[in-house]
Amino acid sequence: MLANERQKQIKELVLSRKNLKISELSKKFKVSDMTIHRDIKAMVESGFIVKTFGGISLASQDTNVSNGNECVLCYKSINFRFSCRLILTKNRVETACCMHCGFIRNQMLGNEVLEILCYDFFTNTTISAMNANFVMDTTLDLGCCQPQFLLFNQSEHAQGFVRGFGGNVVTFTEAMEKVARQREKSKGCC
Ligand SMILES: [Zn+2]
Ligand SMILES: [Zn+2]
Repeated sequence: MLANERQKQIKELVLSRKNLKISELSKKFKVSDMTIHRDIKAMVESGFIVKTFGGISLASQDTNVSNGNECVLCYKSINFRFSCRLILTKNRVETACCMHCGFIRNQMLGNEVLEILCYDFFTNTTISAMNANFVMDTTLDLGCCQPQFLLFNQSEHAQGFVRGFGGNVVTFTEAMEKVARQREKSKGCC
């Protein structure tokens, strides 16, 4: 397995489990502890995870939040269910009201964005937006920005939601392009 792929899987594991042991990871991926330490180095430096005794933990996302309960972009107050957190370099975290503003910040910040975390609409657990299934053009109105997106970790959940409430399932990249195109049309307006 390539280092990139392993690092991606470690990220997903720490997101779902919050705490992991180094020895558990080295066993799982059949590599040395040293290799795991190398894999997690960047994640520790970015503030995404913290080292614990013999393991790693998902960093507390409540610390380092620079902008309290307002969206970093449009200043709407945050409803945590729809919000997303941009994990940035140098231990910075930004919170946006929804993925609409998350995408715009992501484009503004470029390489500074290491990860975007959001909540699964169905299970309410923290997931990585980059791998999520985005439901758009649904009949359910969240009352946040347009276009709106509902995120699901599992594509079956997204498909099931669409069957009940209408809409389309798109990927992270497709959703981001939608937001970019809409911004092109209505220049300057959020
Ligand atoms: Zn916003
Ligand atoms: Zn919003």
